[in-house]
Amino acid sequence: MLRTADRVADQATRGVIVPNLFIDGAWVASSAALESDVVNPFDQSVIAKVDEAAPDDVDRAVAAARRAFDAGDWARVPAAERADVLDRVADLLVWNRRQVAHTETLDTGKTLTESRADVDDVVKVFRYYAGLADKEAGRVVETGNPGAVSRIVYEPVGVCALIAPWNYPLLQMAWKVAPALAAGNTVVAKPSEVTPLTTIRLVELLAEAGAPAGVVNLVLGRGPQVGQRLVEHADVDMVSFTGGLATGRRVMQAAAATVKKVALELGGKNPNIVFADADLETALDYALMAVFLHAGQVCSAGARLLVQEEVYDDFVAEVARRADRIRLGNGLDEGTESGPLVSAEHRAKVERYVETGLAEGARLLAGGRRPDEPELQAGFFYRPTVFADCRRGMRVVQEETFGPILTAERFRDEAEAVALGNDTPYGLAGAVWTGDAGRGQRVAARLRHGTIWINDYHPYLPQAEWGGFKQSGVGRELGPTGLAEYRDAKHIYQNIDPKPLRWFAG
Ligand code: NDP
Repeated sequence: MLRTADRVADQATRGVIVPNLFIDGAWVASSAALESDVVNPFDQSVIAKVDEAAPDDVDRAVAAARRAFDAGDWARVPAAERADVLDRVADLLVWNRRQVAHTETLDTGKTLTESRADVDDVVKVFRYYAGLADKEAGRVVETGNPGAVSRIVYEPVGVCALIAPWNYPLLQMAWKVAPALAAGNTVVAKPSEVTPLTTIRLVELLAEAGAPAGVVNLVLGRGPQVGQRLVEHADVDMVSFTGGLATGRRVMQAAAATVKKVALELGGKNPNIVFADADLETALDYALMAVFLHAGQVCSAGARLLVQEEVYDDFVAEVARRADRIRLGNGLDEGTESGPLVSAEHRAKVERYVETGLAEGARLLAGGRRPDEPELQAGFFYRPTVFADCRRGMRVVQEETFGPILTAERFRDEAEAVALGNDTPYGLAGAVWTGDAGRGQRVAARLRHGTIWINDYHPYLPQAEWGGFKQSGVGRELGPTGLAEYRDAKHIYQNIDPKPLRWFAG
């Protein structure tokens, strides 16, 4: 466990600076001396103590962001200069890649391979929004009147509260920070209390890259206190939230009181549909990665496997056989294929879903238990779990378990595959595996999810919109729409030859 002095000494290796709240360009401690432990999910060791914001700290962070926004300096700076700051952040992340990835693995338990990929993706996101910042400043509108000109300009929304979850702490925050700053907003970032370390690092890099005082602020602490206060705050203009469905509903409700703009990226229960005419070896290989990547703690996880009946039995049996062989371990060890779940609380939730699945009559083919290896007992590990003979109405099929649980169902034909794939309140992502190009396109067109992969799973691009249909969210991240979320359109109309109208005779 690191006491404050040790933490200062340690920052060179882990890149986490103290104190950890960043308000108006300065690192400050919690005004109420609140601290919380950050725990490594691999062995429950406390890897850092971080400050927890008191209500006053949240208010000061919002006030700093408000002042910086209202002063107008950042919004009025030429967009190309804002882009330079984002580009420098990308450079700094490249230089610090090893250290940032290491910190992310310590904090989340994910493998180093995954953490490195996250950092690389974040670099691309900063570069993408740097490139987009000075494009599309607005448009000229035809007025139908030669005596008038009219144009639309895009302005920043204002003070944005950015609230991110624990599964992709750095990446999810970057998806918000980069477009918000590119558009000229000021921000108050709040990572999950469970995984704050790489966000602290990101804010440090933003400051180093030249983000002016007050433009980027950071508060740490528990969601229901710190997050809720941000959402309710009258001086916050917009909330961009990524997290669970239940919390998303609360955020939307709380934001209603001040009619804030809200962007929500919520959960998913994502169908991975395999037709008998697919390249089955490739589909099988991807089916495992689709669901068990990061121990299933992925919003777009392919947790609902739908397999055409003529190949269902063999396909699902082989998925289970391979799931049983996934090597669990310390994310820092290069041989590890999957790390632990993020917390004891989260593992307990996953275990409840396994019990629910069994009670509902699902047939357990793999996992369904904690691992036996002595070296894994201190971590929050759970074996990759495969349930066969699942039916559409089961809770384990309908609800997001957010853990290493795969449910398998069989379908007869294209129509049934689409019906099952859409039979969920969520609409985040899905995949279709087929050797028939026309079928791939037909199914993709009929699935009500924000991203559809054909003969692939999980790739996303900074330049392509990401987000959910139905209860998976409101709004989009990434792509041009991801920038538009952080802008308001203003119509400026000018009469170039004003004369009295004589509307009233008077
Ligand atoms: P939560 O909804 O529990 O938390 C998300 C964030 O909201 C955290 O920072 C949390 O803080 C904060 N928070 C909690 N309560 C409130 C509140 N009342 N007001 C404001 N903020 C609050 O989600 P998880 O962290 O458990 O993340 C997992 C969820 O995120 C999954 O459902 C997953 O599908 C979803 N997700 C969606 C993605 C997408 O792109 N659609 C991507 C990644 C994840 P704290 O943790 O400190 O309590």
